[in-house]
Amino acid sequence: MDDLIPRDAPFSLVCIHCDAGMEIGSYEEALAQSWTEVSYAPDLPMANFIGLCPACRQEEGP
Ligand SMILES: [Zn+2]
Repeated sequence: MDDLIPRDAPFSLVCIHCDAGMEIGSYEEALAQSWTEVSYAPDLPMANFIGLCPACRQEEGP
């Protein structure tokens, strides 16, 4: 997956289901805070990456 992420892309993250993620500063930080499915989303209007935040992941279940 890292191959798809341009190294010069500024990291900004938003959750698929809610508006969490603006406080996450890096891909590694997102993983450390239990975000999943983090992927590069160049077409997104408000962030360069999209993922599933820990709160929404718990609602969805395993
Ligand atoms: Zn969420």
